[in-house]
Amino acid sequence: MSDSDEPQQKTVIGIAFGNSNSSIAFTGPDGKAEVIANEEGDRQIPSVLSYVGDEEYHGAQAKSHLVRNPRNTIAFFRDYLGKSFAAVDPTNAHSSAHPIQHDTGVAFSVQEKTDEDPATLTVSEVTTRHIKRLSDSAADFLGKPIDGCVITVPTDFSESQRKLLSEASKGCGLTVLQIIHEPVAALLAYAAREETSHPGDKTVLVVDVGGTRTDAAVIAARGGMYTLLATQHDYELGGRQFDEVLVDHFSKEFMKKHKTDPRENERSLAKLRLECENTKKTLSLSTSSQISIESLADGFDFHSSVNRLRYELLSKKLVDQVVGLVESVVKKADMDLMDINEVILAGGTSHTPKVATRIQQLFPSTTVVQSPATSTTAINPAELCARGAAIQASLIAEFEAEDIEQSTHPAVTVTPHLTKSLGVVIASPTGTNDKAEDKVYVFLESETAVPARRTATFIGTREGGDVLIRIVEVRKESVDVTPTKEEKAKINGVNEDDEDDDEDFDEDDEDEKVFKRVTEVERVIAEAELKDVKKGAKVEVMLNVAGDLTLTVTARVVGGQGGVRGTVPG
Ligand code: ATP
Repeated sequence: MSDSDEPQQKTVIGIAFGNSNSSIAFTGPDGKAEVIANEEGDRQIPSVLSYVGDEEYHGAQAKSHLVRNPRNTIAFFRDYLGKSFAAVDPTNAHSSAHPIQHDTGVAFSVQEKTDEDPATLTVSEVTTRHIKRLSDSAADFLGKPIDGCVITVPTDFSESQRKLLSEASKGCGLTVLQIIHEPVAALLAYAAREETSHPGDKTVLVVDVGGTRTDAAVIAARGGMYTLLATQHDYELGGRQFDEVLVDHFSKEFMKKHKTDPRENERSLAKLRLECENTKKTLSLSTSSQISIESLADGFDFHSSVNRLRYELLSKKLVDQVVGLVESVVKKADMDLMDINEVILAGGTSHTPKVATRIQQLFPSTTVVQSPATSTTAINPAELCARGAAIQASLIAEFEAEDIEQSTHPAVTVTPHLTKSLGVVIASPTGTNDKAEDKVYVFLESETAVPARRTATFIGTREGGDVLIRIVEVRKESVDVTPTKEEKAKINGVNEDDEDDDEDFDEDDEDEKVFKRVTEVERVIAEAELKDVKKGAKVEVMLNVAGDLTLTVTARVVGGQGGVRGTVPG
């Protein structure tokens, strides 16, 4: 076969479209996703467009114009897409082009061309221009035109927002193959690293601490299917708030020296904000950081420094809020922190060591928290969405449009699922099976998507005789067994009065909670009895849960004749 006969592979990319930053990624021939740097060398490309003279600037260049040319600089527009003017919160756009009402939606008025009247750019138009810049950067890097993309959006993006996003992308000639949820993309980025094609069943918490918002999601991964169990959002918590604590801190210092508040002058404030963001990022890597701004306000320069401990003290409330969001999303999923097998931290602000360590402290030390501060093998949290989107794009690149729509793998589906875990207790009616009587084997974890079927074999009876098989609903609970202060003092041989009363913030003064996992029978839902089972013979139990949650139980002696079967309505 000649080269020209070979099917042409489509060039597809993943796009993470954030309010603050966007990124683009592609999957190489080795199946590994890689985030692409744009022409300026940035992998986190600010979602910002700025109009200066007759030029359009994009990304980091546009962001720098927030100081000199804020009214012609459009930032934080993603969440305005498809919303009415009355429904949007303009706070984030306070120091950039202000959103204005346009027909039923939102637009920005900017001086696009020097000799013309200001132009009104709708959010859809801005989105088209932004996606075009991203797509052009990807085409430049890959050296070929882009045929399609998968874009990530938050879980609360509405159907009409998704439709507008698809149309906006089409507007610049880029076909959207699929729009997927950000936390699922984060999960895919990690799942792609696992060796098996169907990584084990687990319940994963994804916490995305971005620039303008924080989103948390609990996802059940069962047999290669993902089910979104609960989501929670905080639209007033993100990297911007972390920047703001440094802005306030340095402003106070500046005021003490120069008797003028840089926050009162728009340009001084914009300068200070940009520098505080850099200082904050440095503090994720180093224990202290310098800040240096020429002519910050009233012609005075500003030079100072801050250490990480001070920053952590200043931002403690914000970290508390992230922790609170984590606790509440797990509760909303009707789960216990112990039910979470893995935590994935996504979003740029997840680089903050204190955010990661405080979340780690919530969970038992056996729970993996994927973040740079808590795991050496973590993927850059700011790259997860783009990578996941690129992986998904490469999986579905050759699908027909209808098949993509139908494709459940690996997009999240809200399928019917078990609300309780189902387990099996093997007992002997005569009670001779002593210890085995207490043991609950968890067969199907709660949140398993139905229909589902599982089979397992057990040693029926050590003595020989009848075997009673109980199918039970399992209650899993974690009991807080953290030692009290008195118990701890006793263990450590410390006199309580000797304790250090230092009020200063202590890196490790938050106690790690100790939990014990308890698995108990909540309710027996079916019983099956096998008669005269030989000593040591194996018993096979099969549970089959239909789509309407009807349970069929089959039990038989392996190698024996017959067996029992029963059905319990859902
Ligand atoms: P959103 O949609 O919530 O605005 P996003 O997805 O567009 O967020 P991200 O790139 O995830 O944006 O997050 C941007 C935020 O992450 C910014 O506030 C940025 O300052 C912060 N950030 C990036 N890198 C670091 C770092 N190394 N340490 C601390 N914060 C960081």
